[in-house]
Amino acid sequence: MERELLFLKPVCTHNIWGGTRLRTDFGYEVEGDDIGECWGISAHPNGDGEIRDGRLAGRKLSEVWEEYPELFGRLKYDRFPLLTKIIDARDDLSIQVHPDDAYAAEHENGSFGKTECWYVLDCPKDATLVIGHQAKDREELETMIREGRWNEFIREIPVSKGDFLQIDPGTVHAIKGGMLILETQQNSDITYRVYDYDRLSNGKPRELHVRQSIDVITVPAASPEQSVKKTGDVEPNRLQSLHSCEYYEVFKLVVQGKAQVVQCYPFLNLSVVEGRGQIDGRSLKKGDHLIVPNRYGSIELEGTMEIIASTVPVMV
Ligand code: ZN
Repeated sequence: MERELLFLKPVCTHNIWGGTRLRTDFGYEVEGDDIGECWGISAHPNGDGEIRDGRLAGRKLSEVWEEYPELFGRLKYDRFPLLTKIIDARDDLSIQVHPDDAYAAEHENGSFGKTECWYVLDCPKDATLVIGHQAKDREELETMIREGRWNEFIREIPVSKGDFLQIDPGTVHAIKGGMLILETQQNSDITYRVYDYDRLSNGKPRELHVRQSIDVITVPAASPEQSVKKTGDVEPNRLQSLHSCEYYEVFKLVVQGKAQVVQCYPFLNLSVVEGRGQIDGRSLKKGDHLIVPNRYGSIELEGTMEIIASTVPVMV
């Protein structure tokens, strides 16, 4: 089993702000014009991915995690720790913030907090994202939120294709319409909605979490320079680390011709975001998501592809 790649069947979701690119660009067979998210590598109960083929075909990732801990390096996490999504935002998403582990444990029935990061797959020219806010202290933060002074509060920063953004708990953030993003995150779904542009959903505004937001937002916010990293031209055929934190390490891999990557991590998630080719003789294309298990050894890739990969630090 150790030499078997775990390809996953993605789970797509319908969202009021979603679009059609997950079907038209990525080839996922989902109907509708409101496809917001593809949960490519997920063992979360709201979208537990199934193994596509091989000896574990049809099994849920959460079950494989439980029954075959050796495939993931026998880590001490009580559940599969990561979640990889592709997000197609036709419209603006609500402005949100996530709690850290301590706040979530206390206020959300022992759930994990949520640290996440974004890799911008595509966006319009002159695109912006909401990252951070303009309040200088907690008192001003509370006043701006309670009085709805959103134009003063919200900070938008310019982004372009290939940018990487780390979103620590407490960071105000929102994806804007027209963006296509790959998100790597802790396996958690706890989100506090700060502001929803006064939109109505089924005739009424969606719930806001004002108290929790004021509690968890970091003041002052990190600077725009600290928030966005340009990934630029990476050296091909080599895993290039984009960011590492206590929850994950995210890499970019551009395959041109042949590449050999040594899988020296507890496990390695791979999501193909551009192109096509092969992995150890099996076909691989844009939209594929897979896990390279523990002790797999050397991976041989071939073709013209762009891949975003992730793993977790080893807990001691
Ligand atoms: Zn978020």
